[in-house]
Amino acid sequence: MKIAIIGGGLAGLTAAAYLSNSPDTEGTVFERSPQIGGRAFTYEKSGFTLNYGAHAVYGIDRHTLHNMENELGLQFQSKQVDKRKVVYAKHESLTAAPLDFVNIMKTEVLTKREKVRFITEIAAVIGHLHQLKNHRTLGEYLDRTHASHDVKELWEHLVCSNFFISPEDARQVSGEVIADYYHNLFLSGRPVSYILGSWSTITNQLRSKVEANEKWEISLKEPVESIRMENGKYILNTKTREALEFDQVVLAMPGPASG
Ligand SMILES: Cc1cc2nc3c(=O)[nH]c(=O)nc-3n(C[C@H](O)[C@H](O)[C@H](O)COP(=O)(O)OP(=O)(O)OC[C@H]3O[C@@H](n4cnc5c(N)ncnc54)[C@H](O)[C@@H]3O)c2cc1C
Repeated sequence: MKIAIIGGGLAGLTAAAYLSNSPDTEGTVFERSPQIGGRAFTYEKSGFTLNYGAHAVYGIDRHTLHNMENELGLQFQSKQVDKRKVVYAKHESLTAAPLDFVNIMKTEVLTKREKVRFITEIAAVIGHLHQLKNHRTLGEYLDRTHASHDVKELWEHLVCSNFFISPEDARQVSGEVIADYYHNLFLSGRPVSYILGSWSTITNQLRSKVEANEKWEISLKEPVESIRMENGKYILNTKTREALEFDQVVLAMPGPASG
């Protein structure tokens, strides 16, 4: 089976690492930038390795990175941040990040009333009782639920800030994904950790995994411009090549391919 993966960020590289494990597959990861990593891109400056976007791993002890380590034979180390010392900047002053119940009490990010609501919501998420998980998207949950305006706003803000997306995009995220994310984060003994050696430690290992299968390639600076279907095959045009034929396509970029 010939597979095209569009996007060489964490999602595309992870999909490629799993799919290239099978001897029956061949494929190409198309990445429009000159480097892999997408929003988890790392660069070197003055002898330092710096993360451009993503920097922390939230709830690492309950994270899928552990499955990837075991299933793909990856190896990386992380350093935990003391959750009691994590702060938010609010109105030019610093206040505790509400990562556990002690800090929820201390934080000025939430008012007293919001704290009570926040704790009720989180308790329902921890107990797997929250209705959010049964809704296709956050937007659907917010539209159909009788929750107060404050609670709805709280959910939108949480998802925007933790998933690094706009309020409109937050409303499109699956209810089950959000419920699982916060279930794991609030039960985690290690809510905030950093990957030692930066995110490139992960992306480079994923790349090596993909390139270990000689029937797979990662093609940089090659944006996919259009996809069409002909006789049961996907036909891709990229900036540099035309009419490339594939059996399956994995879309691993935020929006649809342009063109
Ligand atoms: C400032 C910032 C801080 C963040 N901090 C954290 C954090 O601390 N912890 C955390 O877990 N997450 C964090 N995130 C979120 C995290 O970076 C993303 O969730 C994750 O990197 C998304 O990976 P992805 O592969 O789904 O998408 P992307 O990383 O966006 O990858 C998509 C790739 O597709 C490529 N592409 C797009 N269109 C095409 C096309 N037509 N043809 C070919 N290639 C194409 C893009 O160039 C890109 O490389 C942060 C995000 C930002 C912006």
